[in-house]
Amino acid sequence: MKFQEMTSGQLRQVDREQTLVVLPIAACEQHGPHMPTGTDTIICGGIAEAVEQRCRDSVLLLPTLWPGASHHHLPWGATVTLELETYTTLLCQLLKPLLDDGYRRVLLLNGHGGNIDPMRVALRRLQPDYPHVLLTAASYWSIAEKEIIDRLDGSDKILGHACEAETSLVMHLRPDLVHIDDLEDATDYLRDMQHGVFICQDMAQRTRRGHTGRPDLASPEKGAAMFEAVVARVAAVGGELIAMPLPEPRRP
Ligand SMILES: [Zn+2]
Repeated sequence: MKFQEMTSGQLRQVDREQTLVVLPIAACEQHGPHMPTGTDTIICGGIAEAVEQRCRDSVLLLPTLWPGASHHHLPWGATVTLELETYTTLLCQLLKPLLDDGYRRVLLLNGHGGNIDPMRVALRRLQPDYPHVLLTAASYWSIAEKEIIDRLDGSDKILGHACEAETSLVMHLRPDLVHIDDLEDATDYLRDMQHGVFICQDMAQRTRRGHTGRPDLASPEKGAAMFEAVVARVAAVGGELIAMPLPEPRRP
């Protein structure tokens, strides 16, 4: 079910308890020399739409949110962002009318690293008022970590930024937007996790040209296989979230 293609009457009929409301959250930020700024929106929106196609009766898909929290990309330019506080509040305010309308299962499906912290804070802010709602959030690459890593040839076994995985996925979804003459090895970047410690630096400090990993090893075939595997995994996890018991408010 696609929220923006339905009427108020149709939406009134939707089962509030057995439907998973999915809000894809993406971004619009620089993606190195070879990839479009809309990369995360293309990938995350594409995955979400394919998941909805597989789970038409149980998933209620909202339109993909294209602004994200991307201040750490601003030094490279080509980036639109919301302040962290604004973004967190935006997520809360987008979800609140749906929660007040009775929907009991929500998934923020994320496609951008900078959104991870604020999406969790948003759910933390909503949870005290909605303890009876299953409030969940995940990046597609954390749900489908194995499905992605197993298909990477480079040593950088992680979904980074305009990397082997992201480049392959866009080569599959929008090949016309990838500049293949600019694909290069970008493994010489600074990890933001070192020795179990999160190191907070912007993308100009961490990368030579704004991206990470081995986009030079990307291919549309790899992207197609990865996309199918990720969609299958996200759909399966969506099913788990629908089967999960709903939380009960508990005040010891
Ligand atoms: Zn991003």
